[in-house]
Amino acid sequence: MPKIIHYRNKCIGCSICFEMQPALWRMSKKDGKATLVQSISKKDVYQLVIREEDVEFSMEVAKACPVKIIRL
Ligand code: SF4
Repeated sequence: MPKIIHYRNKCIGCSICFEMQPALWRMSKKDGKATLVQSISKKDVYQLVIREEDVEFSMEVAKACPVKIIRL
């Protein structure tokens, strides 16, 4: 199962992920960082299982993250 992994504590809140893929990302009003919708966290590392058809575009989002904290 493909997964997105988000190292949220290093997020700089640029909102590129949210702008590219609003179905999966939200910007937190609390701390200004991106939140991976419906993800499961383990010590501030968030994981979300995604559909096979979402992999390619999610990789584009990961590439666009300026601090490279989105992995697949
Ligand atoms: S693109 Fe990266 S740094 Fe920018 S808000 Fe998303 S996770 Fe954070």
